[in-house]
Amino acid sequence: MSKTYGFTTTILHNDRQKAVEFGSLHRPVHTSVAFGYQDARQLASVFQGKEPGFRYGRQGNPTVAALEDKVSKMEDGIATLCFATGMGAIGALFQGLLRAGDHIVSSSFLFGNTNSLWQTVAAQGCSVSFVDATNADNVAAALQPNTRLVFVETIANPRTQVADLERIGALCRERGVLYVVDNTMTSPYLFRPKAVGAGLVINSLTKSIGGHGIALGGSLTDTGLYDWSAFPNIAEAYKKNAPKQWGMAQLRAKGLRDFGASLGPEAAHHIAVGAETLALRMERTSANALALARMLEADPRVAAVHYPGLASHPQHGIASSLFKAYGSLMSFELKDGIDCFDYLNRLKLAIPASNLGDTRTLVIPVAHTIFYEMGPERRASMGIAESLIRVSVGIEDTADLLDDFQSALDA
Ligand SMILES: *Cc1c(COP(=O)(O)O)cnc(C)c1O
Repeated sequence: MSKTYGFTTTILHNDRQKAVEFGSLHRPVHTSVAFGYQDARQLASVFQGKEPGFRYGRQGNPTVAALEDKVSKMEDGIATLCFATGMGAIGALFQGLLRAGDHIVSSSFLFGNTNSLWQTVAAQGCSVSFVDATNADNVAAALQPNTRLVFVETIANPRTQVADLERIGALCRERGVLYVVDNTMTSPYLFRPKAVGAGLVINSLTKSIGGHGIALGGSLTDTGLYDWSAFPNIAEAYKKNAPKQWGMAQLRAKGLRDFGASLGPEAAHHIAVGAETLALRMERTSANALALARMLEADPRVAAVHYPGLASHPQHGIASSLFKAYGSLMSFELKDGIDCFDYLNRLKLAIPASNLGDTRTLVIPVAHTIFYEMGPERRASMGIAESLIRVSVGIEDTADLLDDFQSALDA
């Protein structure tokens, strides 16, 4: 599309920029594992990367490729790889980019499974420094000559700390370090990490982008800002094209083809349909979350509310200057004497469940579920109170939602 359209217009109409069979308005779901060629020489040249085409489903599929294109448009990137899950995309960083002896700097405020993955990485010969990434000075102090990447989340799950995104971006640019931002909690509608210098952007497509809790998926987008000729771990085989393409060439081969966490075409289709309403859902869930956060903060039975949209949030200023709205993730702590399980059981609409970015409001007692395995010490170091309740705010009617949380307190 040569004219510049808005976010939703682009997502709705970009599929039809290439011919679609029978004028189908949705990209067809291609379930074929292999792709045949009449001329065997053409098959060889597709294998050798000399012409575009599909060969075997693990490395690419037309339905998945259409979604990759959509995510690239959303993130304003030059290329995207899709994976079976968000963790598949994050795992591909390790598989595709790191070698024994490398070092990474990661925010200590992390999605629980990413935290666990970095422990694995550390056990396999790379070292990881966890820092409080709400202040870029802590990242600067942790950088080493062998630091290969800096990893942060935009709004950390579940305590909603916002990374010092812009200053960390400037630091990484100055030091030539690859800057990787997990954009899951903001989604490309509320924030584009490219704007603060990210080289790679992660999205769990399972969450807001798919948005309906019916398909798992993950993505990794190259924004085109990182100079891969400065990255020491690119093998000769992936240096055939321009340096801008080296990173994705190696990640597709090592992180996707060899690692094998490929996204299926049916899931890709569900996610692509869900993505059409991303902007509408993010506006509604952000408005609902802000109303709920304000109501809970004013209630004397609530000990703390964590939501970047509240003026009391430590990074409210950064969030306000960078994000279009504050998203659907919030968490809160009840005062002593109110049992968090009893409270959750009194909610009639909000469902005890562990997903995020669903259309329905979901609640979970963090310390007893998703952060149970890491133990009380590490929980305390991450600011996770034992009574912390995480809420993934949905698109319900605002009054119904507020009434549900209020009635459960009153009971
Ligand atoms: C859920 C999530 C992931 C992992 O995504 P899956 O699709 O569940 O594997 C990674 N990062 C963040 C911030 C998440 O919320």
